[in-house]
Amino acid sequence: MIFTTKPILPDLDAYMEEIQDLWDTRWITNMGVKHNSLEEELRRYLGAKNLTLFVNGHLALEAAIGAFNLKGEVITTPFTFISTTHAIVRSGLEPVFCDIRSDDYTINADIIETLITDRTVAIVPVHVYGNPCDVQKISTLADKYKLKVIYDAAHCFGVTLNGKSIACYGDASVFSFHATKVFNTVEGGAVACSDSNISLVLESVRNFGFSRDGEVENVGFNGKMNEFQAAMGICNLRDIEEIISIRKNIYDRYMENLDGIQGIKLNFPQRDVGHNYSYFPMVFDGYKKTRDRISEELKANSVETRKYFYPLTNRYKCYEHYKSNVTPVAEYIAERVLTLPLHQEITYDDIDRICSIIKK
Ligand SMILES: *Cc1c(COP(=O)(O)O)cnc(C)c1O
Repeated sequence: MIFTTKPILPDLDAYMEEIQDLWDTRWITNMGVKHNSLEEELRRYLGAKNLTLFVNGHLALEAAIGAFNLKGEVITTPFTFISTTHAIVRSGLEPVFCDIRSDDYTINADIIETLITDRTVAIVPVHVYGNPCDVQKISTLADKYKLKVIYDAAHCFGVTLNGKSIACYGDASVFSFHATKVFNTVEGGAVACSDSNISLVLESVRNFGFSRDGEVENVGFNGKMNEFQAAMGICNLRDIEEIISIRKNIYDRYMENLDGIQGIKLNFPQRDVGHNYSYFPMVFDGYKKTRDRISEELKANSVETRKYFYPLTNRYKCYEHYKSNVTPVAEYIAERVLTLPLHQEITYDDIDRICSIIKK
């Protein structure tokens, strides 16, 4: 079986060496040496002013949204992983779903303004598949209406826009280091933000709300990344350039095979973007076979694909009560999109075989 994704693991000896001193120190969690050193390395790699590690991406997202102490409506996209919508709702906020652009699948900034009411407090956009949102337009709207912008940057590790790290935009950007992501710490996440007061809140919230002087100032939870996760991150970060370059080669090979076919729409990285090739989405629009038919055919040939993102988050049972017919472009794409296998062990032969099945 060819899986859609396969976690990156470092060289076993390198990992053993990295964790060896934990047997001497017995400091295995609670902001240990590995944790603090990974936090600093990632802060530098992502070009962030402040960076706060978390045990996973979802809790990082909840903490980031919660850190601004907001009440009211949040404009967001339904074309994302369910985590985005959960994080908004679990923070006591009301999601307002905005449609996406048909070219890069990110939130349509031209529509955002029509959804702003006197209850709107924030925008939570998603850099889908590593495609940056229209950060300029979103920032202009945020300034005009005094809204916070918290980017779900879970797909976007290592991405740059006009040579600048994607982590520099908005009030906060949230990353996921889950096993299936481009960079992993087994499970993990981080919030990048520019305001050091917000970063202090995040630090406190991830540790039961304790502040540096031992007072409990915030309603916190346990969101700490442990030393074994951090050691995994330290090892994987050493290989990140190579990991992204392998992904690029696979991506390009798919492109060569599939570009120019009637009824198939591919995801071309924008020109000003340094991409991370996190996913290979394709949209079947007017192709001789439907997305579902192609996915079944690939499965019969031992190739696993994913319908990212189908259904939309506002089509799941627990969000049915949010009007779900208001994002026609997102509905249209969700019915037709398929992501193909993309990980370090996919060979050119695999790619050619997958593409020939699709073409046949
Ligand atoms: C993976 C992901 C998350 C959640 O991150 P975890 O680390 O799995 O908790 C949130 N949003 C998006 C868009 C994701 O892809």
